[in-house]
Amino acid sequence: MLSALRLISEAAELAARRHNGMARKGRGSEPYVNHLAEVANLLATATDGADAELVAAGWLHDTIEDTDTTREELAQKFSERVASLVVECTDDMSLPKAERRRLQIVDAPKKSAGAKLIKIADKISNIRARIHSDPTPDQHADLTDYVDWAEKVVAGCRGGIAELDRVFDDTVKLARSFP
Ligand code: ZN
Repeated sequence: MLSALRLISEAAELAARRHNGMARKGRGSEPYVNHLAEVANLLATATDGADAELVAAGWLHDTIEDTDTTREELAQKFSERVASLVVECTDDMSLPKAERRRLQIVDAPKKSAGAKLIKIADKISNIRARIHSDPTPDQHADLTDYVDWAEKVVAGCRGGIAELDRVFDDTVKLARSFP
């Protein structure tokens, strides 16, 4: 088992390499790694650094869905728990988007405590990226649509860490404060 620092440092490096060249959706088309850093840091802060595997899984949470990374590889390089947390946060990309979105709402309450925290942090980061200071009508519609859906997913994930729930609520409030 890797030390906490090595676990997180190696997760960050693997995530950065695997998502290399990808841009995230939303404001400024930031490099994808910015999203992963934000999710990992939200988790580290919410747990006050008590759960290294959770933070590592935060770095890696999109690797199976978006890159050619497998569960086996993550289990071997990191741990069985890191691998299963990432699997829990992986959508079946063979399904249409509307079905994937519906399943996220239905499946959220069945997830492990750690996966619920990752999903909340992921939604916080994705909402923040969609908040533009001077949105076009399309950007506004995209934000509203995303926030409406994210609230339904997070409804099934809440109650683990009050601080993370509060950050999500504040982010939704901020998003809805734009006319
Ligand atoms: Zn993500």
